[in-house]
Amino acid sequence: MSLFRNILPSQRSEPLVERFSIKTVGDQELGQRLAAKLAGARFPLSGQWELTCRCNLHCVMCYTDCFNTPELIREELSFPEIIRIMDEMYEAGCLELCLTGGEPLARKDFLEIYTYAKQKGFLLTVFTNGTLLTEKIADYWVLYPPSMIEISFHGLTQQSFEQITQGVGSYERCLAGIRLILERNLPLTLKTTGMTVNRDELLKIKEFVYRLGNGDEHKVQYKFGSDIRARLDGSEDVYRYQLPEEEVTTIEQADQEFRAERARLDSQVRAMWLQGQELCGGGQYTFHIDAYGHLQLCSNNRRQSYDLRHGSFHEGFYTFLPQFPCHNRQTRQGPTLLTIARSPVPGMTTEEVA
Ligand code: SF4
Ligand code: SF4
Repeated sequence: MSLFRNILPSQRSEPLVERFSIKTVGDQELGQRLAAKLAGARFPLSGQWELTCRCNLHCVMCYTDCFNTPELIREELSFPEIIRIMDEMYEAGCLELCLTGGEPLARKDFLEIYTYAKQKGFLLTVFTNGTLLTEKIADYWVLYPPSMIEISFHGLTQQSFEQITQGVGSYERCLAGIRLILERNLPLTLKTTGMTVNRDELLKIKEFVYRLGNGDEHKVQYKFGSDIRARLDGSEDVYRYQLPEEEVTTIEQADQEFRAERARLDSQVRAMWLQGQELCGGGQYTFHIDAYGHLQLCSNNRRQSYDLRHGSFHEGFYTFLPQFPCHNRQTRQGPTLLTIARSPVPGMTTEEVA
């Protein structure tokens, strides 16, 4: 099939060339390639920014929800502070930003922050629970699209979904948000944290997501993770939801795509290990900023921070991050997610989302 089929012959200056497939490079792969090229050189290529711990939901395993209080929300970075830090990240050459929370859309100034980041030319990913998505935001994203929208989807039924989110009506609102994205053909990833409370639904959720990619333009990716983190206040009660490692392995092995992706990830890590490459980019070419302006190695290691409210991004990244320790570095890579990207399959309309 020719990829030139929509071009009239008179518009073509070159003879028609039959091409069967063109491999596209996603942002993540682009980042990995750039990081490989930069091997050894420190460079703030990509950052994750927890814009707020505010959220309209209270998921049982959430590590930020304990900071979702009016007092702590008042301590979060203001819009002018965010803009100043973003300017400094831009000056330092940062290319890619992930805007997350809490629920980033719960910030009243989310679209202003997003717009400023877009104007700066950052490649943007937005992590959201989907329930606060509106037509206005979705239409805005059509004009100024993010590289990826990642929506958490932890339960297949209203009962299991809301047992996790503890938010009445959140299941329907999340599905409505997903529909807004699908209808506009925006890039979408759904993701699930495998836990004791949804262990029996995981492969069915993956199947459901698979069927969402209906029509040529829709392509829904899926991420499955199983990592539970202690809450930001240090409490570890969340670990009761953690699936045992053997069970995660059993789930991965039960599915052909999970199996293949796990094998690919494992061999990638092995190859990097054998080549003596650092498995973690934290502080090397990636970084994390929390809702209060603390620059850290990654969202999973907040033991030490550099306060961006009282210092510059350049000094924080180049002078302080290299001094921050991580005991995980020598033993394991940070949490890995199985990411399944595939072509859409026919057979499901967006109406079936609900
Ligand atoms: S939607 Fe995300 S931020 Fe909100 S409570 Fe759930 S896990 Fe936490
Ligand atoms: S090894 Fe893991 S926890 Fe440590 S900085 Fe890297 S990603 Fe973060």
